[in-house]
Amino acid sequence: MPVIPDSFKQDLLNRVDIVDIVGRYVQLKKGGANFMGLCPFHNEKTPSFTVSPAKQFYHCFGCQKHGNAIGFMMEYASLGYIDALKELASSVGMQVPEWQPRTPEEAQRKERETDLFAVMQKAMAFYRGALKASPRGVAYLKQRGLTGEIAARFGIGYAPDDWQGLKAVFPDYDNPALVECGLVIEGEGKRYDRFRDRVMFPIFNRRDSVVGFGGRVIGEGEPKYLNSPETPLFRKGEEIYGLGHARAALHEARRALVVEGYMDVVALAQHGVGYAVATLGTATTPAHVTKLLRELRESGAELVFSFDGDAAGRKAAWRALEVSLPLAGDSNPVRFLFLPEGEDPDSYVRAHGKAGFERLVAEAQTLTGFLLGELRARSELDTPEGRAGFQTLAKRYVQQLAAPALRQQLVQSIAQLARLAPDAAEAFFAPEGGAPRHQHQRPAPPRVESVIPRTEEQHLLRCVVMNPALAGELEEALLDDDLPEAAALKAIAADLAGGEGVGGAALVERYQGTGFEKLISRAQAAGMEQNDTPESAAQEFHQALLALRVRRMHREIDELRGRIGADPALNAELNRRVKELHQLKAQRS
Ligand SMILES: [Zn+2]
Repeated sequence: MPVIPDSFKQDLLNRVDIVDIVGRYVQLKKGGANFMGLCPFHNEKTPSFTVSPAKQFYHCFGCQKHGNAIGFMMEYASLGYIDALKELASSVGMQVPEWQPRTPEEAQRKERETDLFAVMQKAMAFYRGALKASPRGVAYLKQRGLTGEIAARFGIGYAPDDWQGLKAVFPDYDNPALVECGLVIEGEGKRYDRFRDRVMFPIFNRRDSVVGFGGRVIGEGEPKYLNSPETPLFRKGEEIYGLGHARAALHEARRALVVEGYMDVVALAQHGVGYAVATLGTATTPAHVTKLLRELRESGAELVFSFDGDAAGRKAAWRALEVSLPLAGDSNPVRFLFLPEGEDPDSYVRAHGKAGFERLVAEAQTLTGFLLGELRARSELDTPEGRAGFQTLAKRYVQQLAAPALRQQLVQSIAQLARLAPDAAEAFFAPEGGAPRHQHQRPAPPRVESVIPRTEEQHLLRCVVMNPALAGELEEALLDDDLPEAAALKAIAADLAGGEGVGGAALVERYQGTGFEKLISRAQAAGMEQNDTPESAAQEFHQALLALRVRRMHREIDELRGRIGADPALNAELNRRVKELHQLKAQRS
């Protein structure tokens, strides 16, 4: 886990304004001290999502999702921690400091990874050189209609028909890195090249480093396509072939086309369709869809999946639909293209050219069209029983669809087919038990237990998170050490004793990944639910301290009463304490 200094995170949280950040994705309206909007994390018609500019927190009263700007970016855009920091930093012109290894092991691992990238880079150069020297490889590409220019653009090469071809550039052929990268196979004491007599397609990651290869057989051999195995650099279910090359074209065309193979991507590019990318021989995964939609979000471009028109193609398309339902948003349409039987994008674009291919794409089915078509095909709509079955079948899919407007449209279409009144349909398809659904195919959050503080220590923690300066006034001796909040409060007090001013959002960030993370996050939610201001938090903080003093006084009095039989002289002391107790109680408001 990379380490970013706390000081950077605090600086960042001081500079970004959570209202701007959230406002880019959610329409916000000022209401009192806060901004309100429709929650992006659950389905709702009246706003229960608030953003506080003073506290730099967001909070939903419906599903109780809450956090600071970093947390919002992670949750909303499905970003990892570092990516969320980068996104926020770039919006205010800051740069996330370079990762520094903390331990010798981390340094070693990093060095190792750098080595592996260098090995892959060197292998790519070797394969590209070998293509130029191979009439067989060149003839194959020509026969597929590819020019030298497009081959160079995609870094296409050729792996010679040689058991140890890579030895030419890796004299230390025994180097374990070659096996680790998946270039060399080790078996029965022998080592040999994985890719032989194949056209080689390098697979790049988002930083344009080679992480794997796809090898296409030239003759009739099996398998037709051979990919790198999973390695420390390469995860098949996540990488998207050609994304780097397609980026400019897909923003211009406002469309990304997902095809099955790298040959399709290259052939389409050759014919001027530059916005195609491919999954790497795996079914569509949520990681694929998330990555693509993130790429398309800004431009509102559409995402088109392309499949063969046969039964296997329709099955793969259905799988892509199921993965897309919870991820699709209202601003990026998702569509499904089925090619005529026996055709693939490569053959189709070669036969019909760019214009012919794009006419076909224009006819691609919408997500709801494909979904409804399949559901209708499985149902009898001319009997009440058949329509009831249709409704029940549809429910599963409607409830997974997160995009609110699209969901509404879908429900209306289903209502018509099922001959249901719109109101009845809304009620039937409403999320079960009013439980909030979540956008990114994570399990729906369980109805969160109440965050309302019960103990005084919970109140104190909530007030400190809402107004961290209060930590300086804590009387630690009053806390009940059996409560986890006591430990959190003491840690915060010690942490902030240096006197630097830390805001609530930065305080929450400091304790991410520590044992106090949950407690502090709950305290934040509680403060937002109670609509605390720094002033009201201070007032409640002092009330809670007072309550704790009363609690201690009660205990002392009880203890004195226990001893008074043996020592009547304690009576005066007892009276004094009781009087003090009354004075304390009088201060409580
Ligand atoms: Zn919500």
